[in-house]
Amino acid sequence: MVKMSAESREERAVVLQPLTNLLQQLKATAARCGVGAVSRGQRLVGYAGQNLSENNMLRLLLPGTIALLSACTEGKDSQVSVDGDLKTVRSAVESGSDGLAVVLVEVESGEEAMMVTASSSEQVAVEEIVAPDGSSAMYWEDWYGAYSLTSAIYVEGNDTVVNWPVRSTDGGLDAGTWEVHIGVVDGSGYYVSNEALDVVTQTRTDSDLSSGTLSIEIIYAEGVGSNSDVVAATEQAVARWEDIWAAAGLTASISWYDSDLDPTLTDLSEGGSAVISDLSAAGTDSDLMVLIGESIGSYNDVYGISGGIPGPLTESERAAVVISWPTNAGGDGAFSDEDIRLYGETLAHEVGHYTGLFHPVEDGWEYWDALDDTSDCASTADCEAALGDNLMFPYPVCDWDECVHQDDLSGGQQGVMHRYAGTL
Ligand SMILES: [Zn+2]
Repeated sequence: MVKMSAESREERAVVLQPLTNLLQQLKATAARCGVGAVSRGQRLVGYAGQNLSENNMLRLLLPGTIALLSACTEGKDSQVSVDGDLKTVRSAVESGSDGLAVVLVEVESGEEAMMVTASSSEQVAVEEIVAPDGSSAMYWEDWYGAYSLTSAIYVEGNDTVVNWPVRSTDGGLDAGTWEVHIGVVDGSGYYVSNEALDVVTQTRTDSDLSSGTLSIEIIYAEGVGSNSDVVAATEQAVARWEDIWAAAGLTASISWYDSDLDPTLTDLSEGGSAVISDLSAAGTDSDLMVLIGESIGSYNDVYGISGGIPGPLTESERAAVVISWPTNAGGDGAFSDEDIRLYGETLAHEVGHYTGLFHPVEDGWEYWDALDDTSDCASTADCEAALGDNLMFPYPVCDWDECVHQDDLSGGQQGVMHRYAGTL
């Protein structure tokens, strides 16, 4: 682990120092034991979810006219970079007179996943994905109800991220020109024409959807990395996370950093930050950041928040998972073995959101994920019985002695993670 400045872009490439051997040694040490009351906090995700904001409501009342009216102005100065199986293209588009911008994604034969990250000074959200044959692959209104497919359709900030396909039932990624239609709206929910968007399109070649590796950077906020108890607990928790992922054919390739980040981390449920944007811009086009701090905004009962469902691989104000170590320590500042196990499940859970997974059911039991192999349960008792051991259950299920081991991932959930563009 080495010191990294949040401002220093140049240094970041040379401070990479994986501690693989240490992790291997720690892997076998996570044990289980009973503890008293475990803080029953929440795990949140950084999106507005089904709580329709005023903007969302306005948007519902102002459906976009059809894309024929849209400007379709892929930037003439596109920048292409290739990193192994992942191709990244940076360009710019502008919204048309109807407030819709059309992003073109050229998919070549053999490419299995695509991701579009778009940002603007106004608010943006994905409205539709159109396949090369002209058919509509995804339309926002179809996923605005009880079942959630992607947070890209929610108007929640100045950028939006969509990964396609999400599920096996969404079909493959046919070669040809795909279109991603992005609505640009102002603070009152009205469409904005002739607005510039920065766009990053990414396509990934990977014929094997049963095994994959994600590049993860774990970054300690200022002071956290010098707390040896927290570092030891985090390394053991990561071993728990790696075990959960291994059962799903997923490998986390982790590098560790210390930093001078403010330990009060950005509350990603309220939006991102320039610091996160700068950090993510300094990384590669395939890495994913996990920030470990002392709190998340003003929360003291939130274990962690993901920057989206899915989260972006490239520069963005919310290109991170933020984790509060004290909450994961159970609130008493000391990690028991049970705390460490839960901490590992929190890490795997939040990064699960980042790769595109919703909770199989939301607390309240009225909203579900779009997968057909996770229960559509409708009560606390039924949902805890059917899904309480699922990694993506919305909260830890605990009694006085311990919490249920939450490490199950359905085949459908595993498929979503393997289709994420950053799973190489
Ligand atoms: Zn969650």
